[in-house]
Amino acid sequence: MPEFLIETQEQLDCLTEWWKAELGLENWEIVASLVDRKTTRGNHGNCEAVEEKNLAVIRILRARDRSSLEIGDALDMEVTLVHELLHCRLAAFNGRAKGDHKDICQEQAVHALSKTLVRMSRKRRSKPRCCLPTPPS
Ligand SMILES: [Zn+2]
Repeated sequence: MPEFLIETQEQLDCLTEWWKAELGLENWEIVASLVDRKTTRGNHGNCEAVEEKNLAVIRILRARDRSSLEIGDALDMEVTLVHELLHCRLAAFNGRAKGDHKDICQEQAVHALSKTLVRMSRKRRSKPRCCLPTPPS
């Protein structure tokens, strides 16, 4: 995947709105922010979703705290955002505990789907995605 950085809160808000509509999350209130590595506990992002209230807080690891040496598309922040939004979409299907079978399978499915969705959206050039430029695929 090509490098894709989200540098400002404005860009993050714009892309979050675009993906919310694409994923059918218009009735959710989702606040996304760019944070440091300590806040994400070393992850590329995290999501706290309250399914009953359609509320979520998403934190995305900021660009300068990412390393290109990491596995898993370290520099594609859009994939991270879509990954965390999919967790909202799938909140009702969460496992009981972190690391249980359901949790691990959901993480793997969310990971694969987020990459595919981002890749497909970048090919669909007829419709502008948001204020951010589409990277070359
Ligand atoms: Zn996840």
